[in-house]
Amino acid sequence: MSTAPGRTLCRPLLLGALLAVLGGCAHQPSSSLAAADLLLTGGSVYDGSLAPPRIADVVISGERIVYVGEAARSHYRAERVIDVGGAIVAPGFIDPHTHPESFIRSDDAQARLNAPWLHQGVTTLFVGSDGSGTPEVEALRQWFQQQGVGTNLAALVGFGAVREQVLGDAAAAPSPAQLQQMQSLVAKAMCEGAFGLSAGLFYAPQSFASTDEVVAVAREAAIRGGLYDTHQRDESSYGLGLLGSTREVLEIGRRAAIPVHFSHIKALGMDVHGQAGEVIALIEQAQARGQRVSADQYPWLASGTRIGAALLPRWAVDGGRPALLAHLDDAASRQRIRDEMSLNLQRRGGAGAILMIGRGFEWTGKTLAEMAVAWNVDDVEAALRIIAGGGLRTGAEATARGGERIASFNMRQDDVNLFMQQPWVITGSDGSNGHPRQYASFPKKYADYVVRDRVITLGEFIHRSTGLSADLMGLRDRGYLREGLQADVVVFDPQRYAPRADYLDPAQLSVGVDYLLVNGQLAIDAGQMTGVAAGRMLRHQPPAGTCP
Ligand SMILES: [Zn+2]
Repeated sequence: MSTAPGRTLCRPLLLGALLAVLGGCAHQPSSSLAAADLLLTGGSVYDGSLAPPRIADVVISGERIVYVGEAARSHYRAERVIDVGGAIVAPGFIDPHTHPESFIRSDDAQARLNAPWLHQGVTTLFVGSDGSGTPEVEALRQWFQQQGVGTNLAALVGFGAVREQVLGDAAAAPSPAQLQQMQSLVAKAMCEGAFGLSAGLFYAPQSFASTDEVVAVAREAAIRGGLYDTHQRDESSYGLGLLGSTREVLEIGRRAAIPVHFSHIKALGMDVHGQAGEVIALIEQAQARGQRVSADQYPWLASGTRIGAALLPRWAVDGGRPALLAHLDDAASRQRIRDEMSLNLQRRGGAGAILMIGRGFEWTGKTLAEMAVAWNVDDVEAALRIIAGGGLRTGAEATARGGERIASFNMRQDDVNLFMQQPWVITGSDGSNGHPRQYASFPKKYADYVVRDRVITLGEFIHRSTGLSADLMGLRDRGYLREGLQADVVVFDPQRYAPRADYLDPAQLSVGVDYLLVNGQLAIDAGQMTGVAAGRMLRHQPPAGTCP
């Protein structure tokens, strides 16, 4: 429902209804103005759809938006009026893929406000990504209700969490009874309000699951109106390959009759660079056949990991660090490790594409290639020296201090741009500790891809961070600035909205969000956090008759 300019305001407007009726409509005397809490006046309003922006007022009463339109002051008497002329007013951003546990699960109430996301303008986060989400959704909701949290949270139940609860770390396939156990855990989580099933088939032990097993479990989410959200088995060329893996996701969606959503869609590594177009074609074919398929994407060319995890062959670290050091002392093993590392380095774009980001080391801020030159060794040797601890007494010390941390520039700009332009790709952060995407994904996308490079328009950026995100992820009463919906609202300055975090300094709050409302309460007021924990865990409503 939207309100055309100049349209009469006689119809009931929630809290304003009684006053409006008593006061008449055509010529409201001032005493008949409807009471409201907050009026944002004069901003450039993007309502979350692709409708063009307009200068309009937004009125909030309690938790709800009660009016969007012109001249609100002649209809409402608000406790507070904020002039937001020159600013952009939009629905609070929705982040479909996050790892915020160190904040939201903290003992510290201040940390639980979830500042990294608030300062990007994000009001709702999906949690439990990559297959990690607990099936104990109701217990989680109660915990947040008691402890307080700054942003809204929407839970996904994790295929990994469920599988581990039933099968442990085993590479084995589940017995029929075990499969049934997994299914009933997912069913329970869905009935407690999870929005869908997340999976991370790239990760062990989830990687041990067959397609059939995933289909059987995903069906439980499908029945209850959820989606299947996946970090797919291969985003690169490790095994199945990017295209094969994409086909598997589509197959799971088809066979389980469930909407599928690709987490952080990308073409990772030299072998698959340039394949974005082929991935998109596969997805569009599925959509043309009637399948619901979507994706999210973070606007960074680098993923974050450790140099050992990125380059060492898995057999070399089977047995942990002592085993690795023993292998490196043996000439034949060392050569084998070097050969495989060399291939992995190639896959990731070479030593120039590996930026060392752990703080306080002689290699901090340098690429692996630069360190090889500085040490006068080859690239693989330089990597081994860092893994072994470089100038530090022990490698373990370097690891503990984050010396192995890297930003791995393994995505190509044209692939990133092409994915971003698809009308079914929404903004996500994949925000995790140590990578600037946790603090800056939304403003980064705005600054680099909307303003600087014009890959997408501002309207597309907002729609794909709000209304479309709500539609795809199953949020019923958020994502749009419309009367009757929940008042999650961001007000940002288009000149100042920008990231501050970068790869070397990833924990810097973004700037430019002047006001942020979560469930009608100001979480940011004039650029400052208010300390109000207005978030809550949202509840997905399964169709009638699908839950006990
Ligand atoms: Zn992931």
